[in-house]
Amino acid sequence: MIVVLGAGESGIGAALLAAQMGLDVFVSDRGKIADHFIQELQLHHIPFEEKGHTIEKIRQAREVIKSPGIPPQAEVLKKASEFGIPVIGEIEFAGRYCSGKIIGITGSNGKTTTTNLIHHLLTSARINTVKCGNVGVSFARAVASRISSHYVVELSSFQLEDIVDFRPDIAVITNISPDHLDRYDYDLTRYAAAKFRIGMNQSSEDTLIIGEIDAGLEELLYEMAPSPHKIKTGPGRSNLVCIDEEELLKFDTSALRGKHNAQNASCAAAAALAEGIKLEVIKTGIQTFVNDPHRMEEVGIVEGVRYINDSKATNVDAVYFALEAMETPVIWIAGGVDKGNDYSQLYSALKGQVKTLICLGVDNTKLKASFEGRIGEIEEASSMEEALQIAQKKALPGDTVLLSPACASFDLFNNYIHRGEVFSAWVKRLKNE
Ligand code: ADP
Repeated sequence: MIVVLGAGESGIGAALLAAQMGLDVFVSDRGKIADHFIQELQLHHIPFEEKGHTIEKIRQAREVIKSPGIPPQAEVLKKASEFGIPVIGEIEFAGRYCSGKIIGITGSNGKTTTTNLIHHLLTSARINTVKCGNVGVSFARAVASRISSHYVVELSSFQLEDIVDFRPDIAVITNISPDHLDRYDYDLTRYAAAKFRIGMNQSSEDTLIIGEIDAGLEELLYEMAPSPHKIKTGPGRSNLVCIDEEELLKFDTSALRGKHNAQNASCAAAAALAEGIKLEVIKTGIQTFVNDPHRMEEVGIVEGVRYINDSKATNVDAVYFALEAMETPVIWIAGGVDKGNDYSQLYSALKGQVKTLICLGVDNTKLKASFEGRIGEIEEASSMEEALQIAQKKALPGDTVLLSPACASFDLFNNYIHRGEVFSAWVKRLKNE
């Protein structure tokens, strides 16, 4: 029997795939399972338990598939290891049954954008492609539905920690910058090594595409990833696709504004080229690309002021590129739950353009102190509405109001999506007034 631990999208996908492969499978969740997932399990006659794990069931397993959210030190995993039962992740499991080509994308920032763009480029070239992993459905669910020849899979470092033989035909590492360092004892090398696992099983037929990686980490990457086909993209230059320092094509679309998105576009173009897609198709695909919301999303221009929703920028690196991409005076809304940020990294991106910082959080002390004397005006707000009212008062025609928080959202919002939606709804209301 296979035991799946955790019944979120990843666990349910694994269970469905296991059942489809004729394996005896049991699902166990420490908490409550969402109703729609219970309905799915029942529909496929998959036995399950919720609100606790029965250790006897674990003892009977020949393999355990764990969800990425379960930390390695969880009691139930310790038990599995005491019983000598192998534990793998959903990505490893789905990879065994995937008969299509796999393009895996990891990195600190830009994963979703690059995944979406690769999916769009492949689809534009009429290749039957599904995007999965952390975007949309789980990889296992996508494999279970067996409709595609290509799987574009967004992968977090947590998911990559639980692979053994998983081998993407094309692996992309967009960049490495400090995020989630708390899970790696604040050791950047350990965190990078978790991401570099994406290339560890590649062979001479596979391709590794490398984005913006610190020179100090490159040696480790080359040690860990054996594929001889390594393509370096960049440097990131606005509106340009660069591969191996060579300018391949120019583009002009607001969906891929800024150097960071040029780097993402270069990674995506390299993947498409490796799949034999023609340069003209890539160029058209980049031009017609529409990204998911909350990533440098232009939500409207009201009385000459441009409003940009970059709520997904929950770390300093993402904000650096947002500020860097600005070409007008900026009223910048930032703040929330600080994850140990070093704001001094942003000083050079201010470029004297940020005229007002509006701190939006329950505790703004650190943010305020970091920018005092560097930004002309610093204001505080305790709700998005208040922040936007201040922004509206301060903004002149030609200015940009940028929500790019550098922080998590949990003090005032449910998540970054909620924060971005409140921002966008307010701007849309203003537009219609
Ligand atoms: P991820 O899936 O890795 O979180 P997203 O594509 O969702 O990445 O983008 C998250 C945030 O990071 C957005 O604010 C976006 O503008 C910014 N971003 C996107 N690509 C990059 C990059 N290559 N380098 C730095 N920041 C980036």
